[in-house]
Amino acid sequence: MDKLKIAIQKSGRLSEKSLQLLSECGIKISNGNRKLKTEAKNFPMEILFLRDDDIPQYVENGVADIGILGENEVWEKEKDVDEIEKLGFGNCRLSLAIPKDEVYTDLDYFNGKRIATSYPKILKKYFGVKGIDVKIEELGGSVEIATGIGLADGIFDIVSTGSTLLMNGLKEVEAIIKSEAVLIANKNINETKQQLLDRLLFRIRAYKRGIGSKYIVMNAPNKSIPKICSILPGMKSPSVLPLAEEGWSSVHSVVQEDQFWDVIDALKDVEAQGILVMNIEKMIL
Ligand code: ATP
Ligand code: ZN
Repeated sequence: MDKLKIAIQKSGRLSEKSLQLLSECGIKISNGNRKLKTEAKNFPMEILFLRDDDIPQYVENGVADIGILGENEVWEKEKDVDEIEKLGFGNCRLSLAIPKDEVYTDLDYFNGKRIATSYPKILKKYFGVKGIDVKIEELGGSVEIATGIGLADGIFDIVSTGSTLLMNGLKEVEAIIKSEAVLIANKNINETKQQLLDRLLFRIRAYKRGIGSKYIVMNAPNKSIPKICSILPGMKSPSVLPLAEEGWSSVHSVVQEDQFWDVIDALKDVEAQGILVMNIEKMIL
């Protein structure tokens, strides 16, 4: 039977999170990531451990059917693959940075300047659209030292907290694009593999919805229920169950993580009591 071949990063910032995602999807993997490839115990899946830079190519040519990597690498490699689903981890941005003592005006500052980067295609496209002429120095890594050694006037690189830039005497002057880990797929996978991919995606989406939501339960006097219902969005509408104590009910609902504290504040104002908040492991719509 066909197995779905997934490529994930062998060792690096996305490795652990990629394995954790598979595990949250109930997929058990027999070995650690020391080998080049391994098989899932309870799902028709083969896992290939690769450098993230190589994943777009392997997915394009079908050595792997799907892959997990940063969007930044997908954009840079410009391979013919489908971006299927954003995964909510590996968040970062690609930014322009210059030595911290330089006075920055606007993007025109970069006209005629040399910029070091591992993302030459993304950068060239960006400045091309803006009509600004820059000289791009392509580096495989350690881009942040390029200005210090006189190779470039500025850099274009991944930033998450900005501490690496600071340590190298640089300041971020333009955040160009945001990136996160994504699932990509080969454009011509067969029907069996497509069905496996659909099963995997179903699980990934249930997990993503779960971590983005909280289950809340509270008690309230019946007269407050209409107000509470108007505050709580819920999946359909809140469930309202009578309590043993006359005139009181228990209200159950799901709240999105980003609206959570606003909802709690509003509930306190309408006599909701004993509010319990629980994590949701998976959410199937
Ligand atoms: P490989 O050996 O696989 O080529 P790498 O050195 O290119 O590894 P990592 O540094 O492990 O890659 O980063 C992998 C991905 O993690 C990046 O392409 C990016 O999408 C994401 N990422 C998130 N935050 C950061 C960060 N602070 N620095 C670098 N990458 C980050
Ligand atoms: Zn890489």
